Amino acid sequence: MKVEFADRIKQLPPYLFEEIDKAKQKAIREGRPVIDLGVGDPDNPTPDFIVKKLQEASTDPTTHKYALNKGLKALRKEMAIWYKERFNVELDQDTEILPLLGSKDGIAHIPLAFINPGDEVLIPDPGYPPYTSGTLFAGGKARFMPLKAENNFLPNLKDIDERIARKCKLMHLNYPNNPTGAVCDKSFYAEVIDFAKKYEIIVCADSAYTEISFDGFNPPSFLELPGAKEVGVEFHSLSKTFNMTGWRVGMAAGNADIVAGLAKIKSNVDSGIFTPIQIAAMEALRNSKDIKREFNQEYTLRRSALIDGLNEVGWQVAKPLATFYVWAPVFGGYDSASLAKALLEKTDIIVTPGIGFGKSGEGYVRMALTVGVDKLKEVVSRIKTEFFS
Ligand SMILES: *Cc1c(COP(=O)(O)O)cnc(C)c1O
Repeated sequence: MKVEFADRIKQLPPYLFEEIDKAKQKAIREGRPVIDLGVGDPDNPTPDFIVKKLQEASTDPTTHKYALNKGLKALRKEMAIWYKERFNVELDQDTEILPLLGSKDGIAHIPLAFINPGDEVLIPDPGYPPYTSGTLFAGGKARFMPLKAENNFLPNLKDIDERIARKCKLMHLNYPNNPTGAVCDKSFYAEVIDFAKKYEIIVCADSAYTEISFDGFNPPSFLELPGAKEVGVEFHSLSKTFNMTGWRVGMAAGNADIVAGLAKIKSNVDSGIFTPIQIAAMEALRNSKDIKREFNQEYTLRRSALIDGLNEVGWQVAKPLATFYVWAPVFGGYDSASLAKALLEKTDIIVTPGIGFGKSGEGYVRMALTVGVDKLKEVVSRIKTEFFS
């Protein structure tokens, strides 16, 4: 029998990292001193006290059964407290908060609740791939909003044609932004809310990186804005904030009807988060201030080591105000893929070509600050030797 994939799989954008993945595997096999700045996954372990809480909770047999789909009430309450303390946003723990198996779970599934075949979804380009795949799986059409340097990597809503805006049912946004490291302020969100009300568009604000920021900048929540709860939800995640990427815990928060739609889909595809993980997540949220301070001190040192170093060498790269990503313009006549290839071949450094995040990502490579200061200094030194001397 010939196994044939469904059209929805065939429609997915081509995977552009095949060549670089192969080159990376080859470099590792050959024992070359690879430094991987390609993955957006913190290098440091989850803090000990969170792991201990998981261990403790997992010895209680009552935690071994199916978890509730809506998550433990105590976890939703802790999430509401965190929102109140961090953003001064009031949320009803029963109707306006839904724990997720990582925010990717919510981002990928939410179109199934609100998108009918042919409906359009506004998606930032460059952007996190599940915005597009989730849209396509629901039969929706991706309508990309280019993020350009001259507009500080914010979409220009005034560029969106009225006729198109009317066909759009949902819009993904992501600030602080992966891959560009860009941030937005509340006035941008105010503009988004006006736009969403005018065209009746559900706003999905992906805020996975609000807790990684520098120089005193404190990224806002979409939900801080008056009217935000009328039009949208925010996705949050413990993944980056607490070095918990593998644990799979995040949340959707905001409009109760939108949260209910997502919950309806999820109750049919998963059976909740393993209870000990929920208990450990509560412990993480309760200690978020200390962890944030500690983690951001380390990322600040890394940001300086890499960017000050590259700027001295002659590669002009801007310092992001948030996220652990550095969005570096290509140089020397390379495009994003050929620069990534050259960096790997000549210096054993892995970066992600911008084109992998969408057409408008061309002209940049993304480097993640997910290795220590010493390695970042080594990165600068190798790049200087091979490209700038
Ligand atoms: C890492 C990341 C997330 C978080 O994903 P989880 O599923 O919560 O681990 C969400 N959005 C973006 C843009 C990310 O880079």
